[in-house]
This record gives sequence, C-alpha cells and structure tokens, in this order.
Amino acid sequence: MRFSIVNLGCKVNRVESDDVAAALISAGGSLARTSEADLVVVNTCTVTGEADKKARKAVRQALRANPSSTVVVTGCAAAIDAAAFTALDPRVRVVPKGALQQTLAPHAAPVALRVGEGFRTRVSVKIQDGCDHACTFCIVHVARGKATSRPFSEVRDEVAAYARAGAREVVLTGINLGSYRSEGRHLPDLLEALLADGEALPGGGPRLRVSSIEPQQVDRRLIELLARAEGRVCRHLHVPLQSGSTRVLGEMERTYTAPWFEHLIGRLRAEVPGIALSTDVIAGFPGETDDDFRETCRVVERLGFGRLHVFPYSKRAGTPAAMRVDQVPDEVKRSRAAELRLLSDELTQRDYDRRVGTRELALVEDGVAVTESYHEIPVPAGARRGDLVEVVMPPRGDARARMQA
Ligand code: SF4
Repeated sequence: MRFSIVNLGCKVNRVESDDVAAALISAGGSLARTSEADLVVVNTCTVTGEADKKARKAVRQALRANPSSTVVVTGCAAAIDAAAFTALDPRVRVVPKGALQQTLAPHAAPVALRVGEGFRTRVSVKIQDGCDHACTFCIVHVARGKATSRPFSEVRDEVAAYARAGAREVVLTGINLGSYRSEGRHLPDLLEALLADGEALPGGGPRLRVSSIEPQQVDRRLIELLARAEGRVCRHLHVPLQSGSTRVLGEMERTYTAPWFEHLIGRLRAEVPGIALSTDVIAGFPGETDDDFRETCRVVERLGFGRLHVFPYSKRAGTPAAMRVDQVPDEVKRSRAAELRLLSDELTQRDYDRRVGTRELALVEDGVAVTESYHEIPVPAGARRGDLVEVVMPPRGDARARMQA
C-alpha cells in the first residue's frame, strides 16, 4: 500500500505524523507522492482560523491529486468539526488521533522507530498530550482533551531505542509538557532518568531538549537541572508569555502576572548562565489597547528573548474570548503582529551577537548545524551529519556568507 502524509501545525502533530508513517512502513506500506498514494493522511491543526482553512485546502488538494485514493483526516480541526471534512467528498474518512494507528496499521510493531534514512538525527518524542487549563483564547485543550502522560518506562525505552539507532538529540514534546506526570514522577524526574540512562549509551546518550513549557511549570528542580546538566539538557526553553499586560493575561486566564513572569525569566538567567529563551505572543487579543500592546513590546525586549512566535489573535468558535464584543479590528491585529515580527528578527540578531565567540555544542544536520541555543550556523569543517561538535559561535556575517556559499 502506497501512502502519503500531509502534516499541518505544531511539533506534536509532526511527531504523530511521523509515528503513523513509521507504523505504516512497519506494516508493509511505502511512502509515495500524494498523486500516487492509495491512502493520504491529512493531520490537521485548528489553532487559528487560518489553520482551519489550510486543513480544508489540504484535503481538497489530496482529493484532486488522485481520484481513487482514500483520504483520512485526523488531528485537531477534525476533532472539532468532523462534518466540515466528511462533507467534502465520500472518499474522506475522519479518524480520531487515538484510533489512527489501530485503524490504519493494526499489525505494526509496537515501537516503530522514526530514525534512519530520511529522518533527522534530531528526533522528537511525544511524552504528553492534552491540557487541563482553559485559556480563554484556546481551542486546543478542547480538541485534545484532558492532560495525559505516557508511562515513564515507555518513554525511557523509546529514547534509548532512538539513541541506539543514532539520534543525537531528543526533543521532548507535549501539548502541556510541564504537566507530565507518571506514577508520581514529573518532568525533572524523567529528565534525570534519561540523563542517567544516557551514561550507559554510546557517546553518553543523546542530548535532550525540552520543547515549549508553560511558565508555571518551570520549577526550582527544572532550573537546577538545566544549570548542572552541562548542556546534556539544552539550556534553551520556549516559555509562552502571550501578553506583557497583566490585565490581558488575567482575561486570558493565564494565572500569572507580567511581573511574576519577569521574575521567573530573571531567575532563569541568573541561575542558568547563557540560557536561550523564546516565547509566544498573541497580538490583538480582545480588548487589547495600544498601551497593552506597547507594554508587551517593552516586556519581550526587556527580557531579551531570542525569538518570538507571533500569532495575530484568531477567534475560535466556542471559546470565551471569541464571544467578546470588544474584538480588535483585523488591520490593527495585522499591524501589531507585523511590528512584533520585526522586533523578533531584531531580538534574534541581538541574541546571536551576544553569543559570538562563546562555545556551544552544535548538532550537525543537513547542511546546517543547530547550536544548543537553537541558532543555525554553518557546518564546521570536517563535521558530518549527526556529529555533536563544540563550536565557537562565528560572527553573523561570516556565518551567513558560509551558509549561502
Ligand atoms: S495552556 Fe492554555 S494555551 Fe496551552 S494548551 Fe492549555 S489551554 Fe491551550
């Protein structure tokens, strides 16, 4: 059976799509172009209205590309509104994420590894799903349901298997990663165990990276671990701020204030020297004034983030924020988002410039090396894909010229 996977959305979706691909291959399937596939899986996202549109467009394109294929639609957009997809064509089947592997590849090996030809030396492992919070703008916790975590030993086995198969960096991902709980153990316990497991593995095991983590979950133990792991756990965190205005944060039900967040970032910088930080920001949440927006710009600049992921606020049906009457006009949202993206570019450059001449471990991927602080630099001379090499951060001009060469 020839199959094709169209992945949309976040890192967790990427992992889930790769897992389905691995399961289908292990059950005898082979990857093909969408136009030649018997089965096309579209893994959708619904984080914004734009994401919904892209999901429907991807399904229509898959239907057009091959008039005889079956198109399976899964993911968050399908969980929220399955009929929007089944109405497109009788060949469309909506399958919930949890039932995907059982439906498509019931006879696949239990742990189908994604490392190998065609996969990266940096591999993501999903350890958690869902979220028990209810931020007023968010539809993801509705689509994904309550927080669940994978068993501790299962994650350890999977990471060890990836390490043996050659992965040099493992990125732990989840929808609300910091809420990880398994038999009373939390994310720092898991990281400690993975570090200990790594000591018995070739090369000391893969280095670990924590993907996006909610600020309330960055606790003393995680900070101490980042400080003493000597880069085996990357000194890089993506901590979503969403707004620099305490009033707006309250209306988002974010359960922290802007000064509390600033204090947290101050602690991270003081206790984990050289840590790289990035964040998410929403532009134009309902009721956001010019002053609120300016405050957000000031806060992200003051905190020295290395990168901002900027989302213009998008109304998601069924969420409290979508029902508010004080929606910010689209053109204001667009211009605030554009301003924040410009600021993000500047912050990335400043973060890079601060690191020039310092030493970091970089993972060599295809044509690029990714540093612990998540900057891309040219592949050091003589290094090969999959090498973890110590580099002196080159000046930005040199790095750009060598990457373009
Ligand atoms: S923490 Fe908030 S934004 Fe993140 S998934 Fe949960 S409800 Fe959504």
